Amino acid sequence: MKERHMMGKIGDLHVTADRSAAGGFLLLWAVFSLLGRGLYHLRPRAAITGGLLATGLHFLSELWHQMGHARAAEHTGFPMTGIHLWGMLGTSIYPPDEPELPDELHIERALGGPRASAGLALAAMLVAFIVRPVGRTALMVASLFALDNLFIFSAGALLPLPFLETDGAIIQRYRQAYRKRMVVIQE
Ligand SMILES: [Zn+2]
Repeated sequence: MKERHMMGKIGDLHVTADRSAAGGFLLLWAVFSLLGRGLYHLRPRAAITGGLLATGLHFLSELWHQMGHARAAEHTGFPMTGIHLWGMLGTSIYPPDEPELPDELHIERALGGPRASAGLALAAMLVAFIVRPVGRTALMVASLFALDNLFIFSAGALLPLPFLETDGAIIQRYRQAYRKRMVVIQE
């Protein structure tokens, strides 16, 4: 198993990270700072500060997304044990000795994250609208926060990608299994 550094706890959830998360943080900081320069026309210092804030909010958004999974998991009676951060993203951790669960429970747990992120995206859009007159740095941070939650943590998470275990991939897999079972029952 890959190295897991203990970062802390949120309620009963252990938050761990591997070294790639530090790389992910720095890379995202650079990308957001460049967006601050190119898209929001900020001075270098403001772009770098805005980039740092937007990166911090990205990782908070990831934790918020995972808390959505955790709430849904709690609701199914098969809770998460932790959150593992790697690169720019994170993974929900479940007990290794879980029994085989019904497909619907997997789907319910997978939907919890994007649902929570969609709510946060709406709130962030409202904040971006409110802080618009404050200045371009505030607008940059708030709008990146909103777009991140909308396109990465809600819509993006629901995309079934072949190279990444997204929430969408999990939902698609268990939906197919569920349909197959229904066909067998009907035959
Ligand atoms: Zn998720």
